[in-house]
Amino acid sequence: MGISFEILQKDIAARAGRLKVGEKTIRTPALLPVVNPHLPLVTPREMQEMGVEAIITNAYIFSKSAEYRERALSEGLHKVLDFDGVIMTDSGSFQLMVYGGVEITNLETVSFQKAIGSDIIVPLDIPTTPDADRERAEKELAITLSRIREAREHLGPDAQMAGPVQGALFPDLRERSARAVQEIGFDFCPVGAVVPLMENYRYKDLVDVVLGAKKGLSPATCVHLFGAGHPSMLALGAAMGCDIFDSAAYALFAKDGRYLTTYGSLKIDELSELPCPCQVCRSHTAEELKKSPDRVRLLALHNLYVTLAEIARIRQAITDGTLWELLDLRCRSHPRLLEGYREFLRQAQDLEEQDNVSKRRFFYQGSESCMRTEVVRYHAMVERFTLGPRVLVAMAGKAPGDYDDILFFKPPFGPYPEGLSETFPIGQSEVPSWDEDMMRAGCRGIARLVETHPESTVSVLCPVEWAAFVRGELPGVEVLNADTI
Ligand SMILES: [Zn+2]
Repeated sequence: MGISFEILQKDIAARAGRLKVGEKTIRTPALLPVVNPHLPLVTPREMQEMGVEAIITNAYIFSKSAEYRERALSEGLHKVLDFDGVIMTDSGSFQLMVYGGVEITNLETVSFQKAIGSDIIVPLDIPTTPDADRERAEKELAITLSRIREAREHLGPDAQMAGPVQGALFPDLRERSARAVQEIGFDFCPVGAVVPLMENYRYKDLVDVVLGAKKGLSPATCVHLFGAGHPSMLALGAAMGCDIFDSAAYALFAKDGRYLTTYGSLKIDELSELPCPCQVCRSHTAEELKKSPDRVRLLALHNLYVTLAEIARIRQAITDGTLWELLDLRCRSHPRLLEGYREFLRQAQDLEEQDNVSKRRFFYQGSESCMRTEVVRYHAMVERFTLGPRVLVAMAGKAPGDYDDILFFKPPFGPYPEGLSETFPIGQSEVPSWDEDMMRAGCRGIARLVETHPESTVSVLCPVEWAAFVRGELPGVEVLNADTI
């Protein structure tokens, strides 16, 4: 028993897989809607009918509620919530972060979670907030790790338990924390205390923190990005290698009159149309939705539909190998998300090893595409070309015959031998008219060729309108004008 994770398909660092929790299995990436037993805008039963395989609820609320505590203990959580899928419980850590204190100990909460039949138990970790200095982050991390060990010893090695990764904004502490949690022995690790980052659009910090944690975790571990549930950022989360998300956003935003979309949240009172194919939006006009006595619930339903559809889209993109394109699209919906995307691309060197060698396609979508893993990998591969003493890279025109090897050219990748013209990425990439960003990247490919073949002399045959640019990018390389030969 326990928790185990199986990876079926990969794209960038994302995985489509199966998380086995005891005898239940859920598909990943997965979204766990947060259920507040006091105020279920959408019931767990309805969620199950919408395709939800797992939910998360707060054990702290159950333990402190006169109404629910005894029922949960005697009937079990699944009966009380009327949901027979996977139920994960949070320990009260969130209350600790928001309100600064909880009246429960680590062993009390894990024992309570076990007693009410939780499928995934979370120890009482300390979610160190992003403003914490290093000293405080280290101190709280030490307490968190001792509680995780204590919970593990108390419940035994087969307990279905999550090992949270903390460490505030320090990527090295996140990595160390992840390594320590991994050593205690977990296949399921939430990356915690990132909600304040997402609430403040600090996506660049989010990328650093998550990739820091991922460095310390085994690639086989299922990763939960705790508190992430806005549909516009799920593709980024998945691309970083997070498998589980949870959403309180669907309900919180609904209470605030906000309508979620994959490109941001809109105020329902400012909408005259409902641009969404879900059941709620197709059976109401914007005016009807605004005036409905059921407005908060209907908004929550729409918000949940949109979020679940995005998860399905991400799973499909991973299967198709087109997650880069979805990610690019989503991250252009907000400048701060674009900033996070660029930070992610900056670290693409490290991601290249995890990505697939071959994919269905590469669509060029602007300068950011030049930093994708496929380009990084191609530039590393150029080193392996076997070349004679005189080499010509023919960007255009008809090449003269007196060269030992003639290579062709496709930006943003660079030089390629004819034998690679049908293979990925050269054969399956769609690139519009050349622009300076892709040419700069393509020239990096040529520079890499020159650098790694010191015994060959490389010349470039270039369209005349690009000759000055290419000479600037490749000092010391002979650049011939295509129309003069
Ligand atoms: Zn809708």
